[in-house]
Amino acid sequence: MIDLTKTNTGLWREITDNCGDIRKCFNCNTCVAGCPAAEGDPPLFIRNLVRKVLLGLEDELLEDETPWLCVTCSACEEMCPMGVHPFEVCLDIRRWQSKNDETYIPAATAEIFETGHTQAVGQVQEKRKAVGLEAVPPTIIKFPELLKIFQEMLRNTDIVRENDYMFRS
Ligand code: SF4
Ligand code: SF4
Repeated sequence: MIDLTKTNTGLWREITDNCGDIRKCFNCNTCVAGCPAAEGDPPLFIRNLVRKVLLGLEDELLEDETPWLCVTCSACEEMCPMGVHPFEVCLDIRRWQSKNDETYIPAATAEIFETGHTQAVGQVQEKRKAVGLEAVPPTIIKFPELLKIFQEMLRNTDIVRENDYMFRS
């Protein structure tokens, strides 16, 4: 059980910067209903992130990897009836997590290096096939030679150079 007397009730002021007034969120779930990353593995439930910010669940939010699974499609921005701008909440949380721990490297970074995707796309192959799509999307993951060039480019970035134990292929 969460003890709400011990949470950081001012967290939303600390985190939110570019989004709308998240106190207007009435938990309708519309943002999750239209979010492609909600189908991922693990899933991103953007509404839950908004709740965590509002409830001031600082420790839980710091450990939460799901903001990094957003594929920046902006669907939730268009659908939120309260002008919360959930996508911007996601970005605000990422910035806040990184500011709190500059050594923090989200797991999604390694996934991007390995596949060019923020999500483990291999795990949604069955879902793609079920709706008549090719199991593997026509992105860089399907072209090993291009993926190799992409990885060589990433090897020139500080994050990969300084943490090469995380980026092997
Ligand atoms: S912008 Fe991110 S959180 Fe919003 S619907 Fe798209 S993937 Fe989901
Ligand atoms: S769509 Fe907007 S109001 Fe509804 S749960 Fe998501 S953030 Fe909250």
